[in-house]
Amino acid sequence: MIIRKLFKFENAHIVRGCSTQRCRASLHGHSYKVEVLFESQYLDHGQMVYDFGLMKQGMKELIDSFDHAIALWDGDDSEYIADMKKHSQRWVQLPISPSAEQFSRVIFVMIDTLLGCTKSINGERGVKLHSIIVHETDTGYAQAFAEDAYSEIMGRIELDKILFSDEVRSSWNDPKLWEKVKKGEMFVNPRTV
Ligand SMILES: [Zn+2]
Repeated sequence: MIIRKLFKFENAHIVRGCSTQRCRASLHGHSYKVEVLFESQYLDHGQMVYDFGLMKQGMKELIDSFDHAIALWDGDDSEYIADMKKHSQRWVQLPISPSAEQFSRVIFVMIDTLLGCTKSINGERGVKLHSIIVHETDTGYAQAFAEDAYSEIMGRIELDKILFSDEVRSSWNDPKLWEKVKKGEMFVNPRTV
């Protein structure tokens, strides 16, 4: 069975090298919708695959990091990156260009890594991240599965190269959230029933 949770955020970017002039040469924003799809063959003690309430902590916080923020590609012009960081408090620096395709891959890697170090104690079993869908507009989306997120052909995404600004980190319940996820520190979900 597959379950789906929808998240939304407003984000600004430039997608260098894309075919549309406005997109590759001017800072602009989108109202993103991100669908997180989990799958399992089992049900927990609440007869659910994975309680949506459990996503309100780390997962929601990580995705919400992009809200009212600029997505910066670390391969972009260093002067542009420095200027954005100087004038805007909320930014996320990524090792990939922030196209919808790459957003879906990077969010897959982030959520999958967090899920990998989350211990559930309400009978959840075999819960896997099925895919991440990123809608940049109402009419198009990109969907990343594990084979896309970890594809060597599309380029390996290194967790250490995902950087969140101080302002973003201070909005998390635990400003060390990403450091802990990267280290694989275990998170224990509360028992829900
Ligand atoms: Zn765009």
